[in-house]
Amino acid sequence: MVVVFGSINLDLVARVPSIPAPGETLAALGYETHPGGKGANQALAARLAGARVAMYGAVGRDAFAAPALANLAAAGVDLGGVMRVDGPTGVALVNVDRRGENAITVVAGANAQSRASQVPAERLGAGCTLLMQLETSVGEVAALADRARRSGARVLLNAAPGSPLPDALLANVDFLIVNETEAAAIAPGLSREAFMRHIGGRFGATVVMTLGAAGAVMSGNGDVAHEAPPSVDVIDTTGAGDAFAGTFAAAVDRSAAVREALAAAVHAGARACTHEGAQPIPR
Ligand code: ADP
Repeated sequence: MVVVFGSINLDLVARVPSIPAPGETLAALGYETHPGGKGANQALAARLAGARVAMYGAVGRDAFAAPALANLAAAGVDLGGVMRVDGPTGVALVNVDRRGENAITVVAGANAQSRASQVPAERLGAGCTLLMQLETSVGEVAALADRARRSGARVLLNAAPGSPLPDALLANVDFLIVNETEAAAIAPGLSREAFMRHIGGRFGATVVMTLGAAGAVMSGNGDVAHEAPPSVDVIDTTGAGDAFAGTFAAAVDRSAAVREALAAAVHAGARACTHEGAQPIPR
């Protein structure tokens, strides 16, 4: 089973003629809401890639909680571990202009109250795959990684959004999934190869680095591989990294070879670029 510990948001997206300047009020050209949050996006991707998935996180007792969770519920993700708390469901307030430039405010809301202790011991252990990101407290992420490592579970960390990380957390990670910006936040000034050598050598983790339209590379256990994406008609790259991470976790969970996991994840990332929003509509 893939256990996802992470954020659950509703994205409120206004299409605007230009990003509003300070003091400016603009009429939007259009408006949509999309379920989002890196945790939820990755849980859905892992489920759509065939894994059994349990989601752990927090939402408010407000009207945004149900739409934020709707796709996960429809896809059959176990939501029994999602806490209801006082405070708002997490939201992303997104302005997108005609050129596709955006300005985003993320309100962590309920996500800030997610706790590692929500995940019961029976959801960790050998045969379990834990997938986390950094939109919840890094202290809770580190605490859960520590418990998971001791239990024999596989630990995957998508270190997004980019942030420096404590060594004690990195030491408990089996697969570190980053893009180039996130790698620079962890270890500034290293080339791609040097970063992979550094993380692998110092912490023993397999590093998986996504490269946008160039696909992704991985390095670990003496193996180095690159996978290029198929050519797709790109509509919106939002959520491509989440589709990648969730699909990679589902492949690791079924004990696929790492190269196979890389190929599946690169393809899922490319597919995610062909629709609007971070989550596909579950079939
Ligand atoms: P993030 O959104 O986290 O920065 P990337 O932009 O590196 O992540 O994208 C993640 C994955 O999505 C890539 O490894 C690739 O498989 C796919 N992808 C992203 N952008 C494109 C693109 N323009 N064309 C095809 N695939 C893409």
